[in-house]
Amino acid sequence: MSNKFFINEIYYLTKADKVFGLFMYFYSNMSTLLPTTGLDRDEIHQQWEAYTHDDMNWKEGKFFGYVYYPGDDYYKIIKEAYATFSATNALNPAVFPSLKKMENEVVRITASLLHGDEQVSGCMTSGGTESIYMAVRAAKEWSKKNKTTKNPLMLLAETAHPAFCKAADAMELNYKLIKLNADFQLDIEDLKKNLSTDVSFIVASAPSYPQGAIDDIEAIAKIAKQHKCLLHVDACVGGFILPFLKMEEVDLPKFDFEIDGVTSMSADVHKYGYAAKGASVVLYKNANLRKGQFYVKTNWSGGIYGSPSFMGTRGGGPIAAAWTALHHIGEEGYKRMARETFEETVFVKNKIKEELPELKILGNPKATLFAFSSDVIDVYEVADELALLGWTINRQQLPASLHVLLNYIHVGKGELFINDLKTAVKKAKQFSLLHLKNNIQLSAVKGLKKLLNEQQFSTLTQKFSGTEDGGKRKAAMYGMMSELSGSGTLNDLVLDYLDKLYQIDDKNA
Ligand SMILES: *Cc1c(COP(=O)(O)O)cnc(C)c1O
Repeated sequence: MSNKFFINEIYYLTKADKVFGLFMYFYSNMSTLLPTTGLDRDEIHQQWEAYTHDDMNWKEGKFFGYVYYPGDDYYKIIKEAYATFSATNALNPAVFPSLKKMENEVVRITASLLHGDEQVSGCMTSGGTESIYMAVRAAKEWSKKNKTTKNPLMLLAETAHPAFCKAADAMELNYKLIKLNADFQLDIEDLKKNLSTDVSFIVASAPSYPQGAIDDIEAIAKIAKQHKCLLHVDACVGGFILPFLKMEEVDLPKFDFEIDGVTSMSADVHKYGYAAKGASVVLYKNANLRKGQFYVKTNWSGGIYGSPSFMGTRGGGPIAAAWTALHHIGEEGYKRMARETFEETVFVKNKIKEELPELKILGNPKATLFAFSSDVIDVYEVADELALLGWTINRQQLPASLHVLLNYIHVGKGELFINDLKTAVKKAKQFSLLHLKNNIQLSAVKGLKKLLNEQQFSTLTQKFSGTEDGGKRKAAMYGMMSELSGSGTLNDLVLDYLDKLYQIDDKNA
């Protein structure tokens, strides 16, 4: 397994862990035992209120990623669709033809937005990860029939979404990480160097999640064609905004089925499609390629079992909500939201460039997400200061940077962010005992790492990662985490966190 677990996932986990702990402390009777008599509506609402107390207040918009929101007006009916179809099941298309029809229409609309012809075929899935899983499976099946190699190899950039490696791990498919160029795009030269007879699947991103870089898909597609292998373009985050930005005359490179050589794509309706969560689309150049993702078992006593994607039972809610979002918002609505979000992003980027010389935007991000780093201050401390001002901002690594991803909910909030960012940068620049403490802790960690064995060190670092200021200051912990990166210790630490996170109920029972 790869060591490159997202560092902010750890942040998220530690934070979630703490929040969970608090819940269990206050509500341990409520949540671990089934109530003998069911709670009524008011009681349930009270519990919701209590449970969500520590959740991020996303309607304030002081976060990036996580929630894509088109505003209450649009969302009202999207929510209604989710609720109305929540009991239905897309497992068997014969039982709920309504869902089949909606799914097909969502797939067709997505295909046409991404310049797919009538041959382009696809499915809806529960999210980007499942779409990617399916594309990897289809590629594996394809290479069995079309490649001579016994060990098909997937090539992907270091910054490609971990879902590809997750899928490859599950299917025991080999993969190799390709270097980045100075703009954080997949490096074409390094890609060429790694071509071999085993290579049957290349992955590109439009854009990548960490730095928002759109890969040079045209150049990659040419290579994929010459090498007679498949090319997946991961447009999970870009699929429902890049097409509309292009319609609005924003200068963007080609990235989709318009390019000969692109054989599959993923696009999340639950991101910039503003649908309810649990909705993504995976598309293939033709139906034959798509067949590779289907699963069939003919000798089961429950009947002949066929399943188009990973899930068995599939809720009708996400499908109906995705269909409703597309039809309710419409091209005009998406274009307007895309343009306004883009303009807000340009404003934020320009302000950073012009008024915050301490920060530097990584690469040349062209859409509505980007990352910034610093050569003069610790950006993790900037994140700490932003957290104290109420912002949730993701900490990234390789290099240390902070992640900014705007959607329609952020329109009009750019100035507030810039002002708070200025305050945070100023604080991070000041000499303080806290920073000194961070540094002392860090040098202690570096020293101890040399002295102790992995097990002792792991135990110690877990103790070290204690929190201050309500858990909002984390810079020292991030420093330690990057110290650990590349060793087995970090992997174990993350596994421990995950384990702990899902064990709490048992402990209290
Ligand atoms: C979000 C995202 C994914 C994964 O999608 P999930 O819906 O979180 O499973 C994959 N690739 C990119 C580029 C993404 O932004």
